[in-house]
Amino acid sequence: MAEGYQFDLIVLGAGPGGYEAAFEAAEKGMKTALVEKDQVGGTCLNRGCIPTKALMRSAETYRAARESAELGVEADDVRFDPVRMMERKEEVTRTLRDGILGMAKKKKVALYTAKGCITGAHEVLLDDEEGQTLTGANILVATGSRPAIPPIPGADLPGVMTSDELLDLREPLESLLIIGGGVIGAEFAVIHHDLGAEVTVVEALDRLLPTLDKELGRGLAMNFKKQGIDVHTAARVEAIEARGGKLACRYTEKSGTIETEAEKILICTGRKPVTEGVFSEEVLASAPLLTERGFLAVDENYRTAIPSIYGIGDVTGGIMLAHAATAEGRNAVAVMLGEEPKIRMETVPGCIFTSPEIAQVGMTQDEAKTAGIEVITKKYPMSANGKTLIEGLDRGTVKLVARKEDNVLIGASLMCGRASDIVGELSLAISSGLTLEDFADTIHPHPTFVEALSECARG
Ligand code: NAD
Repeated sequence: MAEGYQFDLIVLGAGPGGYEAAFEAAEKGMKTALVEKDQVGGTCLNRGCIPTKALMRSAETYRAARESAELGVEADDVRFDPVRMMERKEEVTRTLRDGILGMAKKKKVALYTAKGCITGAHEVLLDDEEGQTLTGANILVATGSRPAIPPIPGADLPGVMTSDELLDLREPLESLLIIGGGVIGAEFAVIHHDLGAEVTVVEALDRLLPTLDKELGRGLAMNFKKQGIDVHTAARVEAIEARGGKLACRYTEKSGTIETEAEKILICTGRKPVTEGVFSEEVLASAPLLTERGFLAVDENYRTAIPSIYGIGDVTGGIMLAHAATAEGRNAVAVMLGEEPKIRMETVPGCIFTSPEIAQVGMTQDEAKTAGIEVITKKYPMSANGKTLIEGLDRGTVKLVARKEDNVLIGASLMCGRASDIVGELSLAISSGLTLEDFADTIHPHPTFVEALSECARG
């Protein structure tokens, strides 16, 4: 395919979208280059999914040790070592990065450590010492996203952080105020609460996790309050000020204006695309490549306005999840090869690693209503699930949404132990067109969290 070009495909960005697409392309016989300016692994591996979960593992172990007397296990003088926690997090990420480098070698993907700039429909200029230009039949932009900072007065004060900086904090925190009760806010609230900090969450909309089924956000707020995390919803942040070595955040909610002091403030109110320097001025002027909000504009086949240039993952907006980017990358490679993309993007599961975990896939009841689909919903309280009681987990539910006409499952939301694993079964069920009866008649092991699915479908 690469007649006249050095490569069949040049991928910009080695996150889970870019490196998986490069591996898939190489697997399918395409001569592939992967260009990355930083470490391989992207946000997921270096500043997102993996490091947060590694820290979460340390934090939950610390909490479990403190609370172990409840289970009849006495542990005195339990302490945590933040430096060791960071070292372990780095060991985990290093191992996974080495795995990606090994795979690139094995699959003969040419890895370039440089910033790439698209200077033509088939050209990428590298900022390495030689300043070389790579040519490719296809170019895939998978440059990801980074934290967006809203225009809050005082947001630039020392001690006001994004998740990137908070992930490298090597000292224990006494208090943390989180602006934004979305996915990042919920997960960092859990980590720092488990580590013993006083945590406050301030969310602009009327519930936590506002993009998910409303019962999930409300259930999480109840669990947070029970655990001692202070939650403020429908709250408008006015300003942050430095005061006596601390930071004071002023916000207004229904009951009036409140000021909360904290040692650090985390801002996690969404992310923005990384597009700066990805295209030369001439290329940007030649076609409408970006949306009004600055995302890379692509069609349903991941193509930009320049047909040889494709885009996937966070840089294109949409669902900002590692596994969604991976699926889009594999679909985009299929399109480049003239094949039908196989992965169905309507069943992208979303998971939040709180305690209990939260997961959602397919349509919510409200989304189905908006789409004019008549549904039946089945709910099961996890307080009736043996494994939940054994594990001592807080309140949770399993909810299945099925089409009324044929009982085919179209969505599910979970707040339960191991929800992030269980949702995989639901994802497969939705994409396979399974019904509530299929779940009811499937033997699930006992005692487990996942048996709640058949109980729920039977109920
Ligand atoms: P998000 O969109 O999930 O949440 C941002 C929240 O901030 C929203 O609830 C929004 O209403 C609120 N907000 C916006 N402006 C505000 C303001 N001025 N004051 C108070 N609240 C305000 O974004 P995020 O949590 O920053 O996460 C970014 C992306 O990263 C998301 O797309 C998320 O899916 C992804 N991510 C996923 C995982 C996971 O899958 N477990 C983990 C972390 C991040």
